[in-house]
Amino acid sequence: MVVLKTKRELDLMREACRISANALKEAGKAVEPGVSTKEIDDIVRKYIQKQGATPSFLGYGGFPASACISVNDVVIHGIPSKKQILKKGDIVSVDVGAFIGGYHGDNAYTFACGDISKEAQALLDATKESLYEGIKAAIAGNRVGDIGNAVQTYAEARNYSVVRDFVGHGVGAKLHEDPSVPNYGTPGRGVRLLPGMTIAIEPMITAGKYDVKVLDDDWTTVTVDGSLAAHFEHSIAITPDGPVIMTIPD
Ligand code: MG
Repeated sequence: MVVLKTKRELDLMREACRISANALKEAGKAVEPGVSTKEIDDIVRKYIQKQGATPSFLGYGGFPASACISVNDVVIHGIPSKKQILKKGDIVSVDVGAFIGGYHGDNAYTFACGDISKEAQALLDATKESLYEGIKAAIAGNRVGDIGNAVQTYAEARNYSVVRDFVGHGVGAKLHEDPSVPNYGTPGRGVRLLPGMTIAIEPMITAGKYDVKVLDDDWTTVTVDGSLAAHFEHSIAITPDGPVIMTIPD
């Protein structure tokens, strides 16, 4: 069931989104060679808790950390670890959610660790831009397929692939709500977008093929061909005046 939010509910949710965005920004500042992914997770957890909020991911479905940190060919759901030390040239996807006032915010960004290759930078740029293409299509009266098609068209025109096995989602009182928001699709198809809907759009784009697999830890999701992957996400609201990005840091 798709939940429509009132303006008051959107205001409450905006606070969860603001904290999520600030936590992601703090994570990004910490990404540098020599830092462990566990250290970044600690920064995220402490920041969120200091705001009186709860890390949305900690314990969600048994996930053992506050942030998903996914390096290079890891697409999503990487588990932070003391043993995983970032190196110059890594691309580091951080996905963070915060819960406060009855609502969740959810966002992700792929950071460069020191100098990265031209190829990696191009993947980051294209994935980020594909997110904004998707957001532009998130207009009341459009359908979910318009968002997916916008992301897919942008990414595939640059010879990248769109991950199929994981998708964006409604977000609000629950971290994952209806509808599903795939990053591929057919214009004019799928659930109609209505004012008051809040969704997380989150393209996962690879430099190779789109096939992914989940490792034995039941979380870490990698590209089958070992190609680099990037992941950018915003929580947005569909409003009569167009899409509004809610996960904006201070
Ligand atoms: Mg999400």
